[in-house]
Amino acid sequence: MQQMWQPELETLPRPQIEALQLKRIRETVARVHERVPFYKERLDAAGVRPDQINSFGDFRRIPFTVKEDFRRNYPFGLLAVPRREVVRVHASSGTTGKSTVVGYTRKDLEMWSDMVARFLVMAGVTQDSVVQVAFGYGLFTGGFGLHYGAERVGATVVPAASGNTRRHLQLIQDFGTTHVVCTPSYAMHICEVAGEMGLDLIKQTRLRTACLGGEPWSEQMRQRMFSLYGIHGYDNYGLSELIGPGVSGEGPECKGMHIFEDHFYPEIIDPESGEVLPPGSTGELVLTNLTREAQPVLRYRTRDITRLDLATCACGRTMARMARVTGRSDDMLIIRGVNVFPTQIEHAFLEMQGTSPNYQIIVDRQGSIDSLEVKIEITEQMLSDEMKNLHRLESDVQKRLAEALSITPKITLVEPGTLPRSEGKAVRVIDKRPKEA
Ligand SMILES: [Zn+2]
Repeated sequence: MQQMWQPELETLPRPQIEALQLKRIRETVARVHERVPFYKERLDAAGVRPDQINSFGDFRRIPFTVKEDFRRNYPFGLLAVPRREVVRVHASSGTTGKSTVVGYTRKDLEMWSDMVARFLVMAGVTQDSVVQVAFGYGLFTGGFGLHYGAERVGATVVPAASGNTRRHLQLIQDFGTTHVVCTPSYAMHICEVAGEMGLDLIKQTRLRTACLGGEPWSEQMRQRMFSLYGIHGYDNYGLSELIGPGVSGEGPECKGMHIFEDHFYPEIIDPESGEVLPPGSTGELVLTNLTREAQPVLRYRTRDITRLDLATCACGRTMARMARVTGRSDDMLIIRGVNVFPTQIEHAFLEMQGTSPNYQIIVDRQGSIDSLEVKIEITEQMLSDEMKNLHRLESDVQKRLAEALSITPKITLVEPGTLPRSEGKAVRVIDKRPKEA
C-alpha cells in the first residue's frame, strides 16, 4: 500500500465518511446561518432550517453559491468569524469586475497544509524530497498553498516562484530538486528549455516528478511528458473559493483524483437544470466546505465538468475519485453548435507522432459560419523529415480531429518554438468571433 499523510482518515470506510459528512454539514449550515447575513437570508428565503437537515436530500434544498456571490459580498461579507481572527487573505485575479476574496483562520491554514500534504505524499514527496515551487507567490493561492503543504511533509522547499526558466533549471541541478510544482504547460516548457540547454534531466538531475495543477490537461500530455523527458506528472485540483489547491489529488495507482471528503462534500449536477445526478454521471462539480472556520461555502458551483467514482482505489484510499477535469464549463467553445473543449483537441492530436504539446486554437467567423484553426508545433525530428511526410501528418491530424470533434478544422503545423509560451496558465484559445450582445 502507498504512503499516506493521514492514513486513518484517508481510508475511512464509506459509511463512516458519509456519517461524518452529514454531521459536519449540519454544523456548517448552522454556523453560517447564525454568522453570515448572506446565508441567513438565502436559507430563510428557501425555507431551510439548519436543525431540520437530517439527510443529504434535505441538504440539497439549499440554493447554490456562485462566483457572483463572492463579488457581491466583496471583500469580507462572507466571513463567519470576526476579521481579527483572519490571519491570511488570498484573492483570485479579477479579470472581470471585483476579485474573489478568501480568508483563513490559523486553524484553516493548518487544515489547508494537511490537504496539500495529502496529495504531495501521493506524488511521492517525503522528508528526503526537494520540492521546487514554480507557482507565483502572492494573492493567488497556488504558491503559498503548495509551499506550506510541502513544508508540512518536511520536504526541503525551494520557493523559486514563477518565471525565469533557466534559473529554475539551474536550481534543479544545484539543489537536487526531485519535484517541481507548476502548471502542466509550464512543466513541458521547463523540459523543453532543458533540451535547448543540452541538459538531460534523467541523467544529470534528480527531477522525476511534476505536481501539476491550475489548468486542464490531457492524459496524452502526461504520457508525452514521461516518454520524452522521463517525468511523472500527477494531477491535483482545487479552487480558491473552497480553499485553494488541496481539494483533491492523485498518485501513481489512482486513475482519478481523491477528493478529501472529510473536508469537502462533492455533488455532481446537471449544469442546465441544477438537478443532482446519480453516482457515476458526468456533470458539473459542486463543493461544500465541511470544516472551514473563516469562510465556509455551501454548494459552490465550480463550473468544472467531471464525474465521481466511489469505489475503493488500488492505493487503498476510500475517498471518492474525480475524473480529470475536461475543462471549466466557461472554457467550453461552441463551434457551429458543437461543444468543444481545448483538452479534447490536445488529447486527439497528441496521439500522432511528430506533434508537440504546444498548440493554439483560433476560432473565427466568416459570414455566419464559425471556423476552427489549430496551430500545432511539430517536433525537431519532424522538422528535418521530408515535406511529403509533413503533409501526411497535417492531413492525419485533420482527420483525427474531425473524428473527435465532428468539425473539420484547418491544421497549421508550425516550427518548434514559434508559439508563445506562458509561465503560468497557457493561453490556448483565441476567439476572434464578435461577442454576442
Ligand atoms: Zn488512489
